[in-house]
Amino acid sequence: MADGAQPTQATLVKQAQPKTAYNPADVSPQRRVQRRYSVRLWSVRHSRGLEWFYARFADVFLLLHPLWKAVGYQRAEAPVKFVEKRVKGLLFDCRMCGQCILSSTGMSCPMNCPKQLRNGPCGGVRANGNCEVEPDMPCVWVKAWEGSRRMREGDAILNIQKPVDQSLRETSAWLRVTAQAAAEGEQAKAEAA
Ligand code: SF4
Repeated sequence: MADGAQPTQATLVKQAQPKTAYNPADVSPQRRVQRRYSVRLWSVRHSRGLEWFYARFADVFLLLHPLWKAVGYQRAEAPVKFVEKRVKGLLFDCRMCGQCILSSTGMSCPMNCPKQLRNGPCGGVRANGNCEVEPDMPCVWVKAWEGSRRMREGDAILNIQKPVDQSLRETSAWLRVTAQAAAEGEQAKAEAA
């Protein structure tokens, strides 16, 4: 190390770790430090535009309801999920919880919180706004608040969210929201008739 240079957070954590033969893959402190959150943070910075785009996208998906119904929602799930996982994985580091609340969290995915909190941050946010568990990661809830302030419907962040239903993991939130909206529309039409 060069004279006067401070060891990085990753080095300190690594040095403090017990030396054993087992070194789990993909969770080394060094790798954590090397992780980039740039696309996720870009999405939060552009939450207003993404909010607009998502609303249009949901409308298009709903217009396609007859197609999903003809094909069968079950059969459509695999290809839609394939695309959803990759697109949202890239933009939001989506964990496919199947019950997306990005529009209520400033486009910052709460499932990236190591504690998976869905109703705001824990008490451990660091002074620099980073996570207490992942010191190099900006707290997803600090980012959620910043993102929500840019959004037209940003106050939705104040809504209380239900606990995560783990049985919905790895399912398509896009299709679920579409099917729900279609059912509500059909019910409203039936009541008006
Ligand atoms: S809230 Fe769930 S579906 Fe939405 S981006 Fe996060 S993990 Fe994916």
